[in-house]
Amino acid sequence: MDCFDSVRSIKGIGEKSEKVLNKMNVFDVGDLLEYLPRDYDYFGDICYVGDIKVGEVSAISVLPMARPKVFRKGRFSCVYVDMTDSSGSLRICWYNMPFMAKTVRMGQRYILRGRVSGKNGGLMMEQPTIYDPNDFYKKVGRLHPKYPLKAGITNNLLTKAIKNALEECEGLTEFLPAEIRKKNNLEGYNKAIHDIHFPKSVSDYKNARKRLVFDEVFLYQSALRLIKIASLKKNVHPMKSHEGVDKFIESLPFELTNAQKKVWEHISEDLCGEFLMNRLLQGDVGSGKTMVAVLAMLLCALNGMQAAIMVPTVVLANQHFENIREMLKDTGVRVELLTGSTTSAQKKLIKQDISNGKIDILVGTHALIDKGVEYKNLSLVVTDEQHRFGVRQRLSLSKKGDDVHVLAMSATPIPRSLALVLYGDMDLSIIDEKPANRLPIKNALVDESYRNKAYEFIKEQISMGHQVYIVCPLVEASDNMDLESVTVYSGKLAQIMPDSISVDVLYGSMSDKKKNEVMEKFAAGQTDILVSTTVIEVGIDVANATVMMIENCERFGLATLHQLRGRIGRGKSQSYCIFVTGKDDGETKKKLEVISHENDGFKIAKEDLKLRGQGDFFGERQTGDKLFELAEIYEDADVFEMAAREASNYTFEEISKFYEKRHRFNEKLNRYMGDVSL
Ligand code: ADP
Ligand code: MG
Repeated sequence: MDCFDSVRSIKGIGEKSEKVLNKMNVFDVGDLLEYLPRDYDYFGDICYVGDIKVGEVSAISVLPMARPKVFRKGRFSCVYVDMTDSSGSLRICWYNMPFMAKTVRMGQRYILRGRVSGKNGGLMMEQPTIYDPNDFYKKVGRLHPKYPLKAGITNNLLTKAIKNALEECEGLTEFLPAEIRKKNNLEGYNKAIHDIHFPKSVSDYKNARKRLVFDEVFLYQSALRLIKIASLKKNVHPMKSHEGVDKFIESLPFELTNAQKKVWEHISEDLCGEFLMNRLLQGDVGSGKTMVAVLAMLLCALNGMQAAIMVPTVVLANQHFENIREMLKDTGVRVELLTGSTTSAQKKLIKQDISNGKIDILVGTHALIDKGVEYKNLSLVVTDEQHRFGVRQRLSLSKKGDDVHVLAMSATPIPRSLALVLYGDMDLSIIDEKPANRLPIKNALVDESYRNKAYEFIKEQISMGHQVYIVCPLVEASDNMDLESVTVYSGKLAQIMPDSISVDVLYGSMSDKKKNEVMEKFAAGQTDILVSTTVIEVGIDVANATVMMIENCERFGLATLHQLRGRIGRGKSQSYCIFVTGKDDGETKKKLEVISHENDGFKIAKEDLKLRGQGDFFGERQTGDKLFELAEIYEDADVFEMAAREASNYTFEEISKFYEKRHRFNEKLNRYMGDVSL
């Protein structure tokens, strides 16, 4: 079998499965082999019942203590049997498998594997698989792949098909030259592909991963370099410094921090310089990035040219718009807003005034790059919260004019060395200092029993005229998860809080219009408590909000927690962040201690890196619209740097030649570069 044969030639793949696979972009054998697991199931050895951890999948070797009992209710049935080993006992339960009552015999030992929950003080293993000892020991110590699935295809089918393909296919073509592999200590392509599916050990998995991540980043790097060369363009209409900007800076109620001054110098030199700007501005939440962007846009406007700032959500666009218009109200510069929620009549007027140049600064979402939006002389594009936009969107905005400067802003705290790799096509400026008048946020890490005390504290803060965010992980309550949800939570909260305190909710699936109403009310101080999902993570600025309480905080990553917390501590008053956790195992605790003792995003990122490096490296990969299929910026930081170093030895053409032999090469390249025409 050849890697270019159709997937149908693999044993176990029929017409139906083929159709589903095609929808998953898998057409030939090579495509299937490059379809990677998103996670693994680690088959641990048998453990004692006494050592079982609730919530985890365990394997045990046990004897029945009594005959199984069957309960029936209509069409449903449940078999219960209590079992024991020398260390303890637990209840086993099978749903809708009444025949299990006959399978289980007294006096016989069983190897069972399943998830264990805690019920009424006891342990219960639900729906376990019974293993023959021989089969069991073959699997122990191995990682079993879990693939991203679509309806019509099971993990079992994919696993078997890939196994068959690996056995029967002659293999994929090695495309990286031997010297590169040797120098960087990389696995051969076929071995890496084999081991990423079926690693025999953790070290096999790590080596396979290293090779495949290298492949991704190596290509990405060379693509970035190409983009960098292509975007190095002469600045045909250099701007001139303008006293209006200095006047504006003087009129501010605060002095710029030294870091802001330094970065503003970089930017103004770019705008007035020989080449177009293509710069990434990094700074922790609340470090004053937006302020610097406003200076740049003002300089643009005072030079008679247009500037646009693009943000990821309508809520944030509204806020930026209000803020920026207010700040610039005495400068004679016209600021307008354009989002997906702008009415069509309004849109028409705004588009008109963009094309005739009556609007100087435009704030908005993706709507800014819609086809129908024609700028008279767009010369600066700012993107806020850059990590939400790909290279592709950044480029499509800069194509809205002939000579467009690009300023991308990001609050994702990544170390400088890594930023240089990820944003290799851009110059880098960092704001590494916060405005001096800020009081550091006070943090508390508590369990659920503290909740009532927290509510008292919240009431107190509200009586002092402040506002509060409460963040929950989910929107709707679900039966099987004990997580706080926005809908249920706000209902309960409204009962507990006195009538004088107003509670409102905000979550992602609300209409944009509704979200805006909610945010505007909160920003205007009409809502006391806002119960929300992570939609508020992105850049909202309400200086009067002084408390954030995060429920089930163990569910969030450190980076998200830090971004969330960045919503408070933005004004003069002392702010407080209360992290409430429903879980207290060691791993979670370590993670949460980092965030509750540290307010500096870069230090948190570093700790995050360390923690992840140790433990959770099988963490589920998010699927969907990700830049890399496999690579994770924190986890694979060292491979990123290695691949970047290696890529600098080759031209884009040379690297493309290597990759031409690889499957799905074009798809990958397209993911990195979009429709960049060079
Ligand atoms: P970022 O976008 O980096 O999260 P912002 O630009 O939104 O931060 O600034 C956060 C808040 O701090 C805003 O309310 C802003 O007006 C204020 N601010 C910005 N620069 C300074 C400064 N130098 N001194 C005091 N406050 C500042
Ligand atoms: Mg911001």
